[in-house]
Amino acid sequence: MNMPIETQSQTGLDFLKYRADFPILDRIVADEKPLAFLDNAASSQRPQAVIDVMSDCYQRYYANVHRGIHTLSEESTDRYEQARRGVASFINAAESHEVIFTAGTTAAINTVARSWGDANVKAGDTILLTIAEHHANIVPWHQLAERTGCKIEFLPLDENYTISDEVVADHLQRLRPKMFAFTAASNTLGVEFPVQRWTSMAHEYGCRVLVDAAQAAPHQTLDVQTLDVDFLAFSGHKTCGPTGIGVLYGKSELLDAMPPFLSGGGMINEVTTSGFTCAALPDKFEAGTPPIVEAIGLHAATEYLTSVGLDAIHAYEKELGSYADRGLRQIDGVRIIGPEPDLKAGIVSFVIKGVHAHDMSQTLDAYGIAVRAGHHCTMPLHKSLGLSASTRASFYFYNTFEEADRLIAAVAEIRKRFA
Ligand code: PLP
Repeated sequence: MNMPIETQSQTGLDFLKYRADFPILDRIVADEKPLAFLDNAASSQRPQAVIDVMSDCYQRYYANVHRGIHTLSEESTDRYEQARRGVASFINAAESHEVIFTAGTTAAINTVARSWGDANVKAGDTILLTIAEHHANIVPWHQLAERTGCKIEFLPLDENYTISDEVVADHLQRLRPKMFAFTAASNTLGVEFPVQRWTSMAHEYGCRVLVDAAQAAPHQTLDVQTLDVDFLAFSGHKTCGPTGIGVLYGKSELLDAMPPFLSGGGMINEVTTSGFTCAALPDKFEAGTPPIVEAIGLHAATEYLTSVGLDAIHAYEKELGSYADRGLRQIDGVRIIGPEPDLKAGIVSFVIKGVHAHDMSQTLDAYGIAVRAGHHCTMPLHKSLGLSASTRASFYFYNTFEEADRLIAAVAEIRKRFA
């Protein structure tokens, strides 16, 4: 546990170098303690490069896009559309118009549930989810069920907090769902689901697939063409980018056939007193003034992450997450909510006998350690595990083994104090 931190990673990722790109990580908090920011699943921090690109836009060329014929508007429009191409290349979309800028993952999933759902789902149809979904990938489907009379079914977890291919195949075969919407990585358990395999299994039954990549896009390479997903959603603010921006990826033919969700300026071809015609993709799904500076910031974030290397990030976080997991498991009374260390990414949730998650989180704050307590917007998951709350430490590539050691030591001390 006390080896020099540089020697502990086998991945070769120079995390100390990248750490210096994030000014906020130098914060001193809680009575002169250096900040250990382990709340990255809620929102990551952003590097100076992203902050600079956004401030440069505001300082030099900001104007509304797609409307003006003046210089600034043209420059802003160019950079906004360049951002779309950049983000399309980040997830390897075949066409840049398959990337719709939304307000985030939540907005992206709502768009599909409303637009695709209302047009394609009827009473008696089934939407298949996993019990590990974030509320953002449950509630829009509940609302669809209220509107259409469709049913929502949940895949249960096995004893190792995962779901076997056999269970997925059995549900697909028995239920013949119209849509299988699942998370690529659980924000509570840290477990990663096999997106490509499950997508191909669903397609065999003519079922559409939406992947919630909120916890995957920041941490691993995503290639939507190889994965063959129909829809994929992620958020800028968890991906080293700004808040207020996210991505809905959809296959062209599906997006083309879907009615717009929000309507107003920007998404039309023509408006008359008796009706309207829609603009082509991607504008059809981007009504109103879009998040211009945020899209430019997200593009900078994806370039930054690409320069660090998503595969190296993923390998390093797995190493760090499993190191923290193993350390926490040694503490008397700790129950880890998630699979064995080797089966998950950099998220470690736990409960501890005699200490409520909120007390744990608040006390850790006094050590300078930022974690999250509560249900993490996964109430059905917590309920299925007989819990109402857990404490979650979530790592990013700028976190260190020393921070994991601080977490383990602090949890052990707090456990003793509360026991
Ligand atoms: N899905 C998952 C797995 C998440 O972790 C989150 C956020 O925590 C969301 C969806 C919702 O993301 P946003 O709040 O950015 O829309």
